[in-house]
Amino acid sequence: MDQLKVTPGDIIEVMGSRTSCAVVWPVDEDEKSPDIIRIDGQTRKNVGASLNDIVKIRKATSKIAKSVVLIPVNDSVTVDKEFTDFVKNRLKGLPITHGDEISVMILGNSMDFKISKTSPKHIVKIDRSTILTISAEASGDRKSRVTYEEVGGLGHEIKAMREIVELPLKHPELFVRLGVEPHSGVLLYGPPGCGKTLIAKVLASESEANMFSINGPEIMNKYYGETEAKLRDIFKEAKDNSPSIIFIDEIDAIAPKREEAYGDVEKRVVAQLLALMDGLNDRGNVIVLGATNRPESIDPALRRPGRFDREFEISVPNDDGRLEILIIHTRGMPVADDVDLKDLAAELHGYTGADIKSLCREAALKSIRRYLPEIDLETEKISSEVLESMQIKLIDFYDAMHD
Ligand code: ADP
Repeated sequence: MDQLKVTPGDIIEVMGSRTSCAVVWPVDEDEKSPDIIRIDGQTRKNVGASLNDIVKIRKATSKIAKSVVLIPVNDSVTVDKEFTDFVKNRLKGLPITHGDEISVMILGNSMDFKISKTSPKHIVKIDRSTILTISAEASGDRKSRVTYEEVGGLGHEIKAMREIVELPLKHPELFVRLGVEPHSGVLLYGPPGCGKTLIAKVLASESEANMFSINGPEIMNKYYGETEAKLRDIFKEAKDNSPSIIFIDEIDAIAPKREEAYGDVEKRVVAQLLALMDGLNDRGNVIVLGATNRPESIDPALRRPGRFDREFEISVPNDDGRLEILIIHTRGMPVADDVDLKDLAAELHGYTGADIKSLCREAALKSIRRYLPEIDLETEKISSEVLESMQIKLIDFYDAMHD
């Protein structure tokens, strides 16, 4: 900040493979280190940079936008004046550039928009006088975009998995040069709802890899008799579209211990999966993530070198983990001042990530009930004043907890 002569709240341009902009803020004293800046996940995507990448930054200025056009990224929306005003208020003051993607939180649900046009070009800020247009049709070019910042309480696991999964998918040349084969399989185990599927999605998104999902019980039952062929097809598709991650949820259903696999069919399916895993080694670029709640019940042959030879326990979060997850799932929610997330996290002993996510949603829904008397249900749309006055209070979280 000293070098660029910027102060908190100033705007900088951030140049990675794309150029975007951000507001400057000092990091905490204990997080300071020379030549390192922290960038939130959304800005990181907008500048096309991964963690630990090198970006250029410089001081920038913004103009007030005369007009801005937004296109919803995933869902089509009903656009009317109330909705447009609401979005405009949420974006007021934020520096944006043409081509960026931005999220707007609407009571716990995030809606993503692409900024398809701004006038003037370059960095602009939306204010009262800006003419905002939101297109009703979604752009439809969405690739699910999730970042490491959306996973709470698993910092160590993510760090290790970035090396094992992201690095070989993004830089296979490193491994060729060193003459080592990257791991082709990683096993994630732990109770349901703690983030195994989420991690797979995030790794695929951050590695810019395609994700192919297999659900163990489903592929065994729905394709009974054709399970092996189906597995071969998915592995082939993953290779043809590499870099890829194949995510096999509830892998214990496909590859139970052989003494537990009664029929010949089951045995053949296990053998097929092993053969497909072995076939990956020479090509690289495809990594298989298996997930299970019952690591002790999978075929030990699966855990041999060259197959699922790295394992991570994804366990129920502790106090710090729960706080991180609470912060993630209340991000953008209008949480009232009487809610101390740290205290709340301490009370949620035993909650998984999925439990915390649903708690936050429930609390938001409870808060709506408090506003019902103010809402005129006869009119089709709720006024943006009411929407903006809404807050989620501690009592809403307690109500949601005790349901
Ligand atoms: P699993 O695959 O372990 O059963 P999921 O990844 O499907 O669990 O978790 C379900 C949802 O719960 C996720 O999509 C996410 O919204 C939330 N969640 C679970 N664990 C975490 C976590 N560690 N951090 C943030 N959100 C989480």
